[in-house]
This record gives sequence, structure tokens and C-alpha cells, in this order.
Amino acid sequence: MIPYGRQSISEEDIAAVVSVLRGEWLTQGPTVNAFEQAVSNYCGVSHAVAVNSATSALHLACLALDVGPGDIVWTVPNTFVASANCARYCGAEVDFVDIDQQTLCMSIEALSKKLEDCRSHGRPLPSVLIPVHFGGQSCDMAAIAVLATLYGFQVIEDASHAIGATYQGKPVGDCRFSDICIFSFHPVKVITSGEGGMAVTNDPALAKRMMRLRSHGITRDRDEMENTEAGAWYYEQIELGMNYRMTDIQAALGLSQLNRLDQFVLRRNQLAARYDAAFEGLNIQTQHIISDAYSARHLYVIRVPAAQHEFLFSELRSADIGVNLHYFPVHLQPYYQRLGFGAGYCPSAEQYAKEAISLPLYPGMTDAQQAIVIDTVKILLNSFIAEPA
Ligand SMILES: *Cc1c(COP(=O)(O)O)cnc(C)c1O
Repeated sequence: MIPYGRQSISEEDIAAVVSVLRGEWLTQGPTVNAFEQAVSNYCGVSHAVAVNSATSALHLACLALDVGPGDIVWTVPNTFVASANCARYCGAEVDFVDIDQQTLCMSIEALSKKLEDCRSHGRPLPSVLIPVHFGGQSCDMAAIAVLATLYGFQVIEDASHAIGATYQGKPVGDCRFSDICIFSFHPVKVITSGEGGMAVTNDPALAKRMMRLRSHGITRDRDEMENTEAGAWYYEQIELGMNYRMTDIQAALGLSQLNRLDQFVLRRNQLAARYDAAFEGLNIQTQHIISDAYSARHLYVIRVPAAQHEFLFSELRSADIGVNLHYFPVHLQPYYQRLGFGAGYCPSAEQYAKEAISLPLYPGMTDAQQAIVIDTVKILLNSFIAEPA
């Protein structure tokens, strides 16, 4: 089986993890600090908060921005469910903005129209927007930032696919167009810590709040305490937090992987370019990458005519090629349908999902493996045309 994604673990990665196992700290300790420092240096952002998953990072980001009952959070349907669920954890409502058919990211046109509609009909505006950098390509963050100022919402970038990407020549994660940006280090993502995530921000107060919330809402900072007289052993829980800490074992893997991030992204882009060239002239659409973005290429998605989708998908799986769908529209998940969403709500994302197939793409994929995938796709497309109607 050629999987759609796979981690790449080196001897250096293994040695880094083993060295933590031989040391003093297993839970959150100095290696978590080092990983946070390294990611914030890489992204050119002031603060980083490591946690046990991107899902946790999204939850903390919403909490730090005071998302709660009465708030509405907007995201896209073409994402993993976690981008929407984080708002539900906080008791907020979720709403969905349709995607752009070319970039497969949030449509700026649909977003501005929806905002305008809300304002003119006196309907509540979102307090937080969560754009998703689909497949590793940044959304048009400059345009989103303009709308954020105009309509007064805050922005969390879901960059789960996009560490190592750039936008307008600067790293995704520098937060110059957002309040908080989050990354995932799940094994299928660009770099991994086993499980893990990180929230980055330029706002010291948000960083401090997320650090407190990842560890039960406990503070050891005298300035934040009610009782300032107690001894050195004293700590206070001043709000309700969770245990979302990353371990030093995970951080060691993540930190070591960060050394190869640029190499991983380069290889992903090389493979993507080879796919692009191979499919030119065929009845296949691919994700449009905007001119001022360098994608981390977490995913390589082809779109085929809806009538051929099921055939191609099952035949590729039968040929041991681990294709996938990214994503079945979140608003059509049974949980979200029970909240009132249904078919027809985001037509572009729904049409896309009837046509999309994610092909294998990961740094360890060989040219020979990719050639098998390309040939199989081509043969199957031809055989479909050859079949009688
Ligand atoms: C993977 C992913 C997440 C969740 O990441 P975890 O680290 O597995 O919690 C959130 N959003 C998107 C877009 C993802 O792809």
C-alpha cells in the first residue's frame, strides 16, 4: 500500500527522543521550552504555546479570545471537524463560509458577502473567524485582516497543514494578520511530535492565558493571585483550565523534525510539481496556488468529474493506493446537521467533495512510487472513457 501520507523519522529523531528518556524530565520541561523557542524563531513570532494536539490548541485559542455562549465562530466546511468543534467546546455557535473553487480555501467573496448580509439584516456578526490553510496554502490573510478590522472580529489561523509555508514572502505563523495561529504535529502533517500542536501569537497576554489554561488554570505568578502572602509552595487556580500539556518526549521529536522542515516542504513541492506536469491536459483539476504563497503541500488533491469519482476512488484503493477525501463537508456531518445545517448550505464545498481525491504525498515517497500512482490514475481515467455508457 502506498499511503496518502506518512511520517519520516530519522536516526537523529530517534536519538533525540531517547536522550529525553534517559534524562530528568518526561513531562513538560526544558525540551518543550526549546521546541517553543525554535518554532517561534522559525515563524518570526514572539510567543509559542506547545500543547498535546492542534485540537487542544484551537480550544485554548478560542478560550483565550473569550469565546463563549452567545458568540458565533465562523470557519469553512472544507476542513477537519476540529476547526469547528473548538467553538462548540466553549458553548458558542458555529457557522460556515463557503470555499473558493480554485484555491479550496475560504472564499473572500463569500466571506464579505456573508458579513455584509449579517450587518444589513441586523444579524449577529462572528466574534472569531477560523480560516484554514487548506493543503498547506495560506488563505488570503491580508484580505481577511481588512474585513476583521471592518467588522470587528478576531482571527485564529488553522495552519494545521501549513507549517513551513510562506505568504507574501513571510512565514505562515508570524501572525501579522491574525491574533493566534495554530499548528498540528500529528504524524500525517508536515512535521510530527507523535501527537502535538502549538499556538503562536504576538500578544503576550494571549500567550500567558493559553499557558495557564493548558495547565488547569493554575498560576504561580504573584501578580495574578488573590493571596499574595503565602509561602513559596503556594499556587492558585484562578480559572478553569485543562491538562493539555505536551511531554518533553514529544517535544524532542518535534524539535528534531523542525531541522528537516524546509527539506520536507521542498520535497513535497517537487512531488506536487511532478503530479501537476503529469496531469496536464487531462480531465483533472488541481488546487490553484496563489502567486504570493508557497504551500507546505500537506495534501495533493485532484478533482475528477463527479460521475467518475466513486469508480476512481475505489479502483485506486483496490490498486493499493491509499487515496482519501479531504474533506467531507463538516456542516454535513450528522452532528452539525442536527444543529440545523444541511445540503445546499455551502454549494462549492459540497460540489468539491463529490470530485476530490487526495493522492499520496509525503517526503519519503519515491519517484518510482509516484510513477505508479500517476500511471494508475491515467489508466483508470482512460478505462472509464472506454466503458460503454
Ligand atoms: C489535523 C487537523 C486538526 C487537528 O489536529 P490534531 O493535532 O490531530 O488535533 C485541526 N485542523 C485541521 C485543518 C487539521 O488538518
